[in-house]
Amino acid sequence: MGLGKQVSIVDNYKKKIKSHSTFTITLCEFCHKRNFKNCSLSILKYSTDINIQLNHEHTCFICENFFKVVLPSIIIKIDSQLAEFKNYKSKIDIGTTLPYRFYEKEDYIRSIFKIKGLVNIKNEINFRIREEIKRTFQFEIDHANPECKLDIVINEDLSFSVNSKNRQFYLIGRYKKLKRGIPQKIQAEKESAISGSNNNDTINYSKSALSVESFVLNALSYLYSTNAIKISWTGGEDRNSLVAGGGRPFIVKIKSNTPVIKYREFFKGDGMEIWFKKIEPKLIKDIHRYRQQVKVLVKLEEDFSDRNDLEEKVKSIVGKVKFEIKKKTMIRNIYESTLVAIEKNNLEIHLCLDNGIPIKQLIGGMDPIEPCFSRILGCKCECLYFDIMEFIQSN
Ligand SMILES: [Zn+2]
Repeated sequence: MGLGKQVSIVDNYKKKIKSHSTFTITLCEFCHKRNFKNCSLSILKYSTDINIQLNHEHTCFICENFFKVVLPSIIIKIDSQLAEFKNYKSKIDIGTTLPYRFYEKEDYIRSIFKIKGLVNIKNEINFRIREEIKRTFQFEIDHANPECKLDIVINEDLSFSVNSKNRQFYLIGRYKKLKRGIPQKIQAEKESAISGSNNNDTINYSKSALSVESFVLNALSYLYSTNAIKISWTGGEDRNSLVAGGGRPFIVKIKSNTPVIKYREFFKGDGMEIWFKKIEPKLIKDIHRYRQQVKVLVKLEEDFSDRNDLEEKVKSIVGKVKFEIKKKTMIRNIYESTLVAIEKNNLEIHLCLDNGIPIKQLIGGMDPIEPCFSRILGCKCECLYFDIMEFIQSN
């Protein structure tokens, strides 16, 4: 971009100054006051009498009437940009990027008149915009820790853009499922294109169907736009599983102009209970590390009710468990395994195990997993359902 061209602006002035006996530089009231504190000055340079004139009609040498013309439109633009904040006093900060020639021309005048130690044009622009934001919108300016930062970029032709860079926020959520049949994620239904002319499938998200995800999005939608929300689950359970105890933790990342939840928010309904709380990013990785207490109903292929080694066999699964997820071998721990009830070929087992162990697989052993109940009991086992009773955070 035209550094050479910008240098020539001052060069042109130098030439003009040299070829005239008097030369007048007009400034707007802002640039005049900032540099000359309201007193007109003139100086003799290259045998030319240079005059500084405060003039409201002509174009300002330094800012090219930025303060009078462009700045008010920037305030209007910020007003619309911050519309979703209106009912919330947010902490914001602004920064500006100016065309290089603004600095160059101010520096040039300052070098001629030996002006030192005053704020420059950028300082004044930032100051005026910030004051306007404080006055008009009652927002708090916070340089150190803003919730939203506005970057105002002034282009060479004095057109401008206002970009908002939002901090990312994280919430920890916990959900409980008090009734069966609620999937964790919004169910995507694949539908083939009607024409059938190509194989492009369209994915329809049935938003009306209840899921934990749809409940979370709905609960947060009064504060954040849905596009700004990204959920990371820390594990999942079956559609038909209940989730009790303190609830399964999950993380919500929010990129938005709008404020964070500052205290615990609780939502209840449709067989679910969910709450959210703000969490610091550095604490997120530990959220995934927890043990679950699980109640499993197992169906055996044969009636085992008269086997007297059953309790011991169920207990023997305690220890390391090895399985594969996406061709990666995982090793996790089972801490407790207790036979609670038996009725013909149905067993109720309580397990305490690390998050992430596929429970249906652990029972049935269809996919590679070692150990599994089918092999331990020497009989084909099937997990009818499992409920998560409690979550215990690991250290
Ligand atoms: Zn000016």
